[in-house]
Amino acid sequence: MRDIKNFDLKELEGEFLALGAKPYHARQVFSWLYKRGVWDFNYMSDIPQSLRKELADRFYVLGFRLLKHLDSQDGTRKILLGSKDNNSIEAVVIPAKSRVTGCLSSQVGCKYGCSFCASGMLGFKRDLTTGEILEEAIYLKDNALENRLTHLVFMGTGEPMDNYDNVIKAIRIMNSSAGLNIGARRITISTSGIIPGIERLSSEGLQLELSVSLHAATDGLRSTLMPVNKVYPLRELIYTCKEYSLKTRRQVTFEYILIKGLNSSLRDAEDLFRLLKDFKLAKVNLIPSNYIPELRFAPAAKDSVDIFKDYLVKSRINVTLRKERGEDINAACGQLRLNYAKN
Ligand code: SF4
Repeated sequence: MRDIKNFDLKELEGEFLALGAKPYHARQVFSWLYKRGVWDFNYMSDIPQSLRKELADRFYVLGFRLLKHLDSQDGTRKILLGSKDNNSIEAVVIPAKSRVTGCLSSQVGCKYGCSFCASGMLGFKRDLTTGEILEEAIYLKDNALENRLTHLVFMGTGEPMDNYDNVIKAIRIMNSSAGLNIGARRITISTSGIIPGIERLSSEGLQLELSVSLHAATDGLRSTLMPVNKVYPLRELIYTCKEYSLKTRRQVTFEYILIKGLNSSLRDAEDLFRLLKDFKLAKVNLIPSNYIPELRFAPAAKDSVDIFKDYLVKSRINVTLRKERGEDINAACGQLRLNYAKN
């Protein structure tokens, strides 16, 4: 049995032709899956009965089961999905005033071992398939109020650039009018700074949002926090991001978690200014860190956060302060999976 969501529309039309079915039935099935949210071939009423049976014999639609969900007082809902091979995958739906954002994982575990992140603690298991990534979005849509999902961000477990082909294929289906029809500008890829991935993305012709986890403005500190910096150091990374923004005319967002006593002093803010001062289309998103007991880091105090932000504002760096969501439900990336594995 194969996951039908691993096929884009063109591929599915080819599969249907091979079965002796009309390609327009593939378009109808696509619409049942992504527009109408129907997961059982039996209910696809405009598909001939014999074809429905054939499809059910050859393909499955949903491969995950919902293991757990947790609701935060702020409306954030975190879900833990179990795969057929007994892995668990986290995804989060985050409602706000005018948008509902789904946060997706791209891999089971992560090999990059950033020291502030719970995701790497259980090690890397495998890439998620295109169908599994789409299924996360489908589950999140189902778990969102009024089934409304307006934005998607690849900020859950895993490095999306390390599972590039499956992520981009899933994004194209999310973005297509026959699929989930979510605008490319409403889909964000967040990377730890994998330079070849950023270079490849710049040639995709997709108007995606690119977000880079920075978290330190010197190589010494960043290499301690994010070992990937030893392979793709800051100078090359910022150069590649500038090239990306020149080529795509898109802004690049740099995520910066403020950790107590580590990267949140005025001096760190000055380093950050020096790093980005010539980068016109850069935005810094400051994140007050969630406290994760398993990790040794604590959030920076509010006055340090204010001083850090004020310095950047005065230095004319485009900066925002993200409101941390879902703190009461372990919403930081990898936390729910980690707690589930411990129980
Ligand atoms: S921050 Fe991202 S790249 Fe780093 S360990 Fe966590 S999931 Fe992996």
